Amino acid sequence: MNIMANGAHLPETPREFGFFVDGAWHAGQDWFERTSPSHDVPVTRVPRCTKEDLDTAVAAARRAFEDRSWAGLPGAERAAILLRTAEGLRRRRDEIARWEVLENGKPLTQARGEIDHCIACFEVAAGAARLMRGDSFNNLGDNLLGLLLREPIGVVGLITPWNFPFLILCERVPFILASGCTLVVKPAEVTSATTLILADILTEAGLPPGVYNVVTGSGRTIGQALAEHPDVDMLSFTGSTGVGRSCVHASADSNLKKLGLELGGKNPIIVFADANLHDAADAVAFGISFNTGQCCVSSSRLIVERSVAREFESILTAKMKKIRVGDPFDPETQIGAITTDAQNRTILGYIAQGKEEGATLLCGGEALDLGRGQFIQPTLFSDVTPSMGIAREEIFGPVLSSFHFDTPEEAIAIANDTVYGLAASLWTRDLDKALTVTRRVRAGRFWVNTIMAGGPETPIGGFKQSGWGRESGLLGVEEYTQVKSVHIETGGRTHWIAS
Ligand code: NAD
Repeated sequence: MNIMANGAHLPETPREFGFFVDGAWHAGQDWFERTSPSHDVPVTRVPRCTKEDLDTAVAAARRAFEDRSWAGLPGAERAAILLRTAEGLRRRRDEIARWEVLENGKPLTQARGEIDHCIACFEVAAGAARLMRGDSFNNLGDNLLGLLLREPIGVVGLITPWNFPFLILCERVPFILASGCTLVVKPAEVTSATTLILADILTEAGLPPGVYNVVTGSGRTIGQALAEHPDVDMLSFTGSTGVGRSCVHASADSNLKKLGLELGGKNPIIVFADANLHDAADAVAFGISFNTGQCCVSSSRLIVERSVAREFESILTAKMKKIRVGDPFDPETQIGAITTDAQNRTILGYIAQGKEEGATLLCGGEALDLGRGQFIQPTLFSDVTPSMGIAREEIFGPVLSSFHFDTPEEAIAIANDTVYGLAASLWTRDLDKALTVTRRVRAGRFWVNTIMAGGPETPIGGFKQSGWGRESGLLGVEEYTQVKSVHIETGGRTHWIAS
């Protein structure tokens, strides 16, 4: 048996999954085999679905939407199923966490924490299912009453990436279900296991057949076909800005389906001289290294006040050197493997580019050889200029670029000097500065004297080229609804044609 030094078991043979349509498992004709990026052993096999499989899934979701078996339920009954799902996640927390580790490479301790967040998503969405409401106009005169009805938009396609396979799924699925929509999910090919496991848990919780369907396979075939599908009413896509753009074209060229997009980021973290520098340095180290920097909201641009810049960089360097990179099953590990070979090459390419472009390397800058798997040291570049590639492009790895500023205006200008606007963080003890900068930096999520804080109550999403729409919270349910304006006349009609 393949047992790790810390007692964790690696699978002897890859776990095989089918795909899930209309409440039943289906065998694939062809398979994709996933190798653990930390251990170099095959761990899962998932079907490469065909376009016909996708059509069957969309048809099942359409039937389940039209027959009212889900949309027609009282919110309280939808909520009960979401709460039972939360219980199911609690029971299977260790199993889900293990497959996240094996497919993604993230530390087991982190994966467990993410599942706790997912449980909270189902609980918050259950509340939202009961509280969702429209509006009324009682001011249209005595003869007319106006109602705004919120109705589920219909069949939703959901495409998710590999960096937080289960977390990103659960920041969307319960809210989509709360709205009354049905859905077809296409997870990233390399991290499909936990999206499939969720099908089992939802079924056990009582979700009617056809409401949650999963097709697996490559983005270029199945993802693209889902984005183009004429019978999908809305597509929620999370991933790269390039593919997000192609989803816009696919929608325009098919049925003008509504889009929710959560895309890339190049997120600033601004540190003023008056901040608690040790707290801020800890947050900066966490913000760039969490999930090996493969995180859409990772704070990849440090913008630090010049008067303390060198002191701050030295505190930060000492902290980043202490980050424990290693086997994700080791409870001491803080960051694990880089998830895909392609991403590993991309990150190392950016590190080489930073060195060539003349930025000063303060720490890291190398791959780590741990005998197996692919790992990269947390890396800090200083003296980065705005035109460098590492300053402008999303690296999606543990590579931080440091910029220096003299005035708050300059800090705001550097923070906004990007096509993205996903998230930002700010460190100061001065309330005036905190409020001014928070209101002027263009980002969908903002953290003051903290980083990556918040729960499923608050919506997430981006400004500028980081995306469209919001997920999570009440807004995250409303995204999957449309409003119908209803006018009801009382007291008889004033005739247009004289009698
Ligand atoms: P990606 O855009 O290639 O893939 C994301 C998902 O889209 C996967 O399921 C993939 O199979 C699918 N896909 C690929 N091509 C497609 C196509 N033509 N049509 C429809 N679907 C397609 O991104 P990735 O390489 O998996 O992830 C890395 C990038 O994603 C990062 O650079 C980052 O910018 C972005 N990302 C953003 C967030 C976020 O929440 N904003 C989260 C994770 C990743």
